[in-house]
Amino acid sequence: MNDPRTRDPDGKPPSTGARPAAGEASPGQVLLPAGYNSPESLIAILDALPESAFLMTPEGILLAFNQTLAERLGRPYATLLGANIYDLLDPTTRDTRRQAFAQVLATGRPYRFEDERGGRIIAHSLNPVLDDQGGVVQVAVFGADITERRRAERQLEESESRFRTLFEESQQATLLIEDGRFSAANRAALRMLRLESPERLLGRSPDELSPPQQPDGRSSAEKAAELIRLAHAQGTCAFEWQHLRADGVAFPALVVVTVIRHQGKDLLHNVWQDLTEQKQALERIDYLVYHDALTGLPNRVLGQDQLRHALAIASRHHAVLAVLHLDLEKFKYVNDTHGHPVGDRLLKAVARRLARELRAADRLCRLSSDEFMLILTDLPATEPLTPITLTCEHLQALLAEPFDLGSVQLFTTCAIGVAVYPQDGRDGETLMRNADTALHAAKQVGGNGYCLFEPHMNQAVTRYVRIRDALHTALERHQLVLHYQPQIDLRSGRMVGVEALIRCWHQGSDLLLPDAFIGAAEESGLILPIGRWVIEEACRQAAAWHAAGWRDLTVAVNLSAVQFRHPRIMADVLAALAASGLAPEYLELELTESLLLQNEAIVQQTVMAWKAKGIKLAIDDFGTGYSSLAYLKHFKVDKLKIDRSFILDIRQDEEARAIVQAMIQIARSLNLRTIAEGVEEAAMAEQLQVMGCDEAQGYLYAKPLRAEELFRWLQGRHLDPPERTGGARRGDWVDHEG
Ligand code: C2E
Ligand code: MG
Ligand code: MG
Repeated sequence: MNDPRTRDPDGKPPSTGARPAAGEASPGQVLLPAGYNSPESLIAILDALPESAFLMTPEGILLAFNQTLAERLGRPYATLLGANIYDLLDPTTRDTRRQAFAQVLATGRPYRFEDERGGRIIAHSLNPVLDDQGGVVQVAVFGADITERRRAERQLEESESRFRTLFEESQQATLLIEDGRFSAANRAALRMLRLESPERLLGRSPDELSPPQQPDGRSSAEKAAELIRLAHAQGTCAFEWQHLRADGVAFPALVVVTVIRHQGKDLLHNVWQDLTEQKQALERIDYLVYHDALTGLPNRVLGQDQLRHALAIASRHHAVLAVLHLDLEKFKYVNDTHGHPVGDRLLKAVARRLARELRAADRLCRLSSDEFMLILTDLPATEPLTPITLTCEHLQALLAEPFDLGSVQLFTTCAIGVAVYPQDGRDGETLMRNADTALHAAKQVGGNGYCLFEPHMNQAVTRYVRIRDALHTALERHQLVLHYQPQIDLRSGRMVGVEALIRCWHQGSDLLLPDAFIGAAEESGLILPIGRWVIEEACRQAAAWHAAGWRDLTVAVNLSAVQFRHPRIMADVLAALAASGLAPEYLELELTESLLLQNEAIVQQTVMAWKAKGIKLAIDDFGTGYSSLAYLKHFKVDKLKIDRSFILDIRQDEEARAIVQAMIQIARSLNLRTIAEGVEEAAMAEQLQVMGCDEAQGYLYAKPLRAEELFRWLQGRHLDPPERTGGARRGDWVDHEG
């Protein structure tokens, strides 16, 4: 029979000669001490084991056991000798153990299992002892208390799972790089990469999940390797990186890399933040800053930039380039008559039509409300003007086609000004200014015209632009003033009215006269706000004089044709009267003949409405236009203002005198009053009175005066009225503007 103590736990018999007997020394080996591997020493080892250990027969009879077993069974050591293990087992575990033993007996193979009893976890190891035929003759059983180890393992597991959850569930895309390759990635990272599972990521290098090149043009592989080196060197680094999603779309991310030391190895802890939305928001802001919200075209800022860019290319290739400024004619009229929504729709449609015609390298932008800029590139160096003029004509024909804007169909024409690089300027600013100058010239011609820049155009336009800007400023800073020139009744010598004449303070000290700026105001459209202010101010001032006692004073206000055609003019005048409280019959509006002759419906309606309200109407500069008597009657004009050019020669020139006489007679026959403009000498006034003229206005009485000067002037005259109008000496009149 085999001595169980000479077998190893797996039941394999020791190889012969492997273990020399005590006291014998084989050649080359140390002499073993007495008692080596004696049963006593082996028992001592067994007893010292923390594990329970026993040897039993297949029936369960204990053949050998150690102290730990007795302790674990809670029995005195001696009582166990020869006992059957099955009688000693706790009834709750007996069955499972019996099955385990049966398994070993049946298979002849070791068997391990764990069970828990009284809060302790025991790991059992059942090892068969075999005879020469391989039959199980005994079973060696060891039982290790692994409660503490299990607890520690469980704790470790728990903490690992906590950290894993923390890693997995974090909304921050987190990845680990080990030896230059991804070794872990959490769910957020997989989501960001549109990956179902980490397989396609693990083991790959960052550049394999990136487009071949980064936005700066560098190869992703090269740059990634460099950044990994940098992270290792610095401990941490942050940078922007283009990654590639599983669907092949690249996206920008902010990457923060931190080196972490784990089990003696440096790992790279990566946190990614997808910057797509942030970039899109920035792009949107960028778009809004550089594009026109209405048409979606580049705005002036971007247009200037594109021009600079195009010029740089043109200069490198010695190419010719053209800058076209295009302005829709009468666009304001569209806004005023059809409303802003229609105006907006027209602008959008125009932008679309223009954009459609562009060649790839050409550029189009919206400069201001109805002004567009086109940059034509790649023009032939010889004869560039032919394609330019052809383009202008083509664009004008294109915009002349009707626009169907849902509710309305509109026609529009445009003026185009062209400046050509390099002949008309080498930088964007000069070219744009010169294109603007040419546009200005084209507008002057009117009706779908275009002009190429010519140097002589500059002076006039520079002046226009200067004045237009000055008017803008004057409006904003309240630098407009009205001066008032008295109108004298020739028979009584009394002042019956004043004409309000506008002036504009310029750069603090210059007083601009209307002849210098009314044209620019009309052309720029500024005449509308300026004219509105004039009417309001004149009515307010006249009402103040009425309140001060000059109750019969009429104020005459000049209206420009542009202003008059504006649909708001009617409402503006009535509003000014209402706001000031001035009675309508003390307001006289001065129009020119040409205006009334145009026979426009809007003019007719407006004039009739004013007349119905009792507002007075005077024809300014009478005799200088194509006088027609019919309209005088038709419009119930109140007064003719005989132009200064006729009055000037009245003393010496027979013909002039005859003309003035005829005018006075016509007026009388139509029951209109007459006033002579530009009366500078007493003799003129006398002559006019003799000829039957009713009133006079001119330097003889007073130059246009500021309101407070006129007030003083009036006071003086009322206190001491001259005997005869003509008798007044020059020195009596205040001479402010001289
Ligand atoms: P107007 O309506 O024919 O005004 C008369 C102009 O003759 C005024 O010039 C006045 O200062 C000037 N004048 C008056 N008496 C004499 C004189 O004895 N001798 C000479 N040589 N000139 C005299 P002003 O103020 O420079 O205005 C020029 C024109 O500007 C006005 O001609 C009028 O058509 C226009 N204007 C003036 N104020 C306004 C305004 O508020 N709105 C508009 N739309 N036009 C205005
Ligand atoms: Mg006038
Ligand atoms: Mg006049």
